[in-house]
This record gives sequence, structure tokens and C-alpha cells, in this order.
Amino acid sequence: MLKAFNLHAQIEEKEILKGLSLTVNPGEVHAIMGPNGAGKSTFAKLLAGHPDLEVTQGSLAFLGQDLMELEAEERVHNGLFMSFQYPIEIAGVTNFDLLFSAKNSKLKALGKSQLSKEDFRKELTELSKKLKIPNDFINREVNCGFSGGEKKRNEILQMAVLDPKLAILDETDSGLDIDALKIVAEGVNQLRAPDKSVILITHYQRLLTYIKPDFVHVMMDGKIVKSSDASLALELEEKGYDWLSEKVEV
Ligand code: ADP
Ligand code: MG
Repeated sequence: MLKAFNLHAQIEEKEILKGLSLTVNPGEVHAIMGPNGAGKSTFAKLLAGHPDLEVTQGSLAFLGQDLMELEAEERVHNGLFMSFQYPIEIAGVTNFDLLFSAKNSKLKALGKSQLSKEDFRKELTELSKKLKIPNDFINREVNCGFSGGEKKRNEILQMAVLDPKLAILDETDSGLDIDALKIVAEGVNQLRAPDKSVILITHYQRLLTYIKPDFVHVMMDGKIVKSSDASLALELEEKGYDWLSEKVEV
């Protein structure tokens, strides 16, 4: 699904990713944890195709293709999805319009027939019911006036519409109350399939009680310094990250 090898990337000549390697196979859920400033969001942005990031070393393949060769929208058409840590508000564009054009542009790129507005509205209404998202979200301007938790749920709706092969969720759990957290987790769990994978970036073990990851990685100073199974998240909750940074410096 995804193979990052010895990735080095910089923003305005400042190196942020410093030799990150990660392999994600189909069907797997990977959690990436780590202190603030480790480069977790930078990695997510790099996968999605943020134009400010420059790869200086290493390789990055998605479904056997060199990801760096693809434009951001081509990555989405091929099955990549990223949810933002800080979703932006887009005044003047409704959720419906955004999702309708995103969905149809993906269908078009895949050579499939596009949906009519009516058919898409039906699909969207069903999806939002399934995800327990209020129906009025659909006609509101993207994230405008949404609470933090509502924005995160809106990201899950976007994910459900685009039905990605690899979803990268950047701290989708932050700012959520317990009910919203369960809804987000349910949305992710519904996406789980043998041919689909998820990368969850999170600070808290809490989300991982609802979405059981196959692997947990710790990222520090631009690279993955430890990988293990789900029990690592519990260990981190107990011990923090300091014991790992000491190890790294040895
Ligand atoms: P995390 O998500 O792990 O908290 P980030 O990927 O957001 O970390 O940030 C990693 C480092 O990159 C931080 O030191 C941050 O200040 C820096 N950084 C992120 N974006 C920019 C930018 N546009 N210009 C300069 N530095 C940046
Ligand atoms: Mg971040």
C-alpha cells in the first residue's frame, strides 16, 4: 500500500523529516504517535502533496507508484485521503458542492460514470445517517461555524464519500467529546477492509481503544524511532516519550 524509505524532506531549507521509513500493507491500521513538533503532520502533508515540502532523499511509493510523481488530485484519485489536523473553513462553498465535485472528479478520473446531483444527495444523506452526522451539515458552508468536534466529524464524512484505499487521519480525535470520538472511530472501523489501510496520527491512547491498530509507531525528530503492536500505546501513556529520546541519543 505504502512504502516510505529513508525519507528526508524540508520546508524552506529546514529539514523536518530525517530518514523516515514506514511500510503499510493492505488491511493494516497503523498509529503514529510522538511529541509535538516531531514531524507527524509534515509526513501527512507530504503524502497528500503539500507544495511547500521538498523531498531531498529517500523514496515514497503508493500502490507501486512513485508518489512524488503524482499531483495532489491524482493521489486522491488513486485512493489517498488525508484529514487535516486543523480543517479549514471554506466560505461560499457548501459541503454538498465540495463533496459532489470531489466525488465526480474521482469517478471521472477512474473512467466511471458520474452521479447526478439527485443520486449523490441520496448517497450523501445515507452516509451521514450511517455516520450519525446531522443532515444539515450537507448544506452548510464547509466547516463554517462548525465546532472543533463537528469539523472532525465532517472530515470523516469526506472520507466516507471518497472511499479511499489509504486514509491518513491527523489527530482526528483531538477536541472530540466521547460520543463524537465513538462516531469517528465507527466511521474508521466501517472503512476497514482487507484492501484498505489507515494511518492514524494521534496523541492519545483513548482513540486506540476504539480503533485497534495493528502497529504503533513513535515518531521523534523526523523519524520513526520505535515500532511495536498496540501495547506500545499503553506503555507510552504510562511512561511518556522521554525514555525513547534517551535511547535515541545513545
Ligand atoms: P507534529 O505534527 O509532529 O506536531 P509538525 O509536522 O507539525 O509536527 O511540525 C514539525 C516541525 O516542522 C515543527 O518544528 C514545525 O515548527 C516545523 N514546520 C512545520 N511547518 C513549517 C513551515 N511551513 N515552515 C517552517 N517550519 C515548519
Ligand atoms: Mg501535528
